[in-house]
Amino acid sequence: MARRIHIVGGGPTGLLLGCLCADRGWSVRVFERRVEPVTHSRSIGIHPPSLALFERLGILSAFLQAGNRIDTGAAFLGARPMGRIDFANLGLSHPFILTLAQSVTEQILTDALLARAPNALRRGCAVTGVRSTVDAAILTTADGAEHAADFVVICEGHGGTLRATLGDQESARPYPHQYVMGDFVDQGAARHEARVHICAQGLVESFPHGANQRRWVLRVPQRVDPVTAEQVTTWIHERIGVRPDPATCSMVSGFQPHRRGAKRWVYDRVILAGDAAHVVSPIGGQGMNLGWLDAAALTEALADGSAAALRRYQQRGQRRARQAMRRAEFNMACGRPFGVSWWPRLWLWLLMQDPIKRRFGRAFTMQGLA
Ligand SMILES: Cc1cc2nc3c(=O)[nH]c(=O)nc-3n(C[C@H](O)[C@H](O)[C@H](O)COP(=O)(O)OP(=O)(O)OC[C@H]3O[C@@H](n4cnc5c(N)ncnc54)[C@H](O)[C@@H]3O)c2cc1C
Repeated sequence: MARRIHIVGGGPTGLLLGCLCADRGWSVRVFERRVEPVTHSRSIGIHPPSLALFERLGILSAFLQAGNRIDTGAAFLGARPMGRIDFANLGLSHPFILTLAQSVTEQILTDALLARAPNALRRGCAVTGVRSTVDAAILTTADGAEHAADFVVICEGHGGTLRATLGDQESARPYPHQYVMGDFVDQGAARHEARVHICAQGLVESFPHGANQRRWVLRVPQRVDPVTAEQVTTWIHERIGVRPDPATCSMVSGFQPHRRGAKRWVYDRVILAGDAAHVVSPIGGQGMNLGWLDAAALTEALADGSAAALRRYQQRGQRRARQAMRRAEFNMACGRPFGVSWWPRLWLWLLMQDPIKRRFGRAFTMQGLA
């Protein structure tokens, strides 16, 4: 059945949902308050389930051209190698994680949307209100205009305010950890390897992305403000003996992870998806990918259109988000500073033995989510 779908937010979730709806031949509009596309690199990791989704949509080749393939994950105790997970041995449909800047990801998704529905994206168009009637979902834009559709999907991200107007009850919990991250020009040859260093002072992890960048993420004892490239490279050097060149830094910032989950995702004809519905810790890099899995599941539920299908969308989505939160919490626990010297070595050794290694590798690449 033909549908009119209005989407609030042209971030990764809203853009992909727009493509999926347009592919069904539905009328779709994406309302995005930003006038200009994003320029930041923030979310870089694209996992195998999302790659399979892109393949079905016919947009995988654009991603493969722009991104960098990560084929292995290596674990270190400080600078000492402890083991390696080869993603080719995990039975994955796409045996790698693709890394590229979020700005490039959003550009590819925008191009894909406009190729399907040239007038679908409304930039500079903030949505100020949403409501359901018996037979329509109505959204109001900042100019006071009202727009009716069969369903409105709120993909407003973590910082959005519309869901509060629906009476959204959410459970939110900040984690008591602090991290810094930065992008530097990669000096090493391991362009296809993600590296996780378990250090006495706390986690150091690094991911090659784009043409020549490497993203470094470090757990730090307390909030750092402002974060400087020099400070980040000094910490990396102290912990693992490698010093990226601070002069090549293109982004540096600090963050405190948290988890958040909306209790209700479906308000009659108004529905939540992506970070509007759930936020998971970035350690493990799965939030954007979860939003895409929501988009795929929601398209199926909207095609059905029944209250039962939308209820299943919420139940499965919440289960998937909780699983991802637990996995991210495990990742954060792995990266905590340690005071005694023997257990991390034993524990890392165990983690790198089959079948635990295989299980860990599959969780790291987002396999087995609900
Ligand atoms: C440091 C860090 C690193 C991360 N790394 C990864 C990673 O490697 N892999 C991964 O999978 N995830 C990662 N994430 C998580 C990822 O950034 C988010 O999960 C993802 O951006 C969510 O996408 P979204 O489209 O749901 O929301 P957003 O990206 O927040 O997009 C929401 C959009 O809605 C628009 N909007 C909001 N309100 C309105 C309104 N009223 N009207 C119109 N438009 C509106 C906003 O302008 C924005 O464009 C990371 C997060 C952080 C903080």
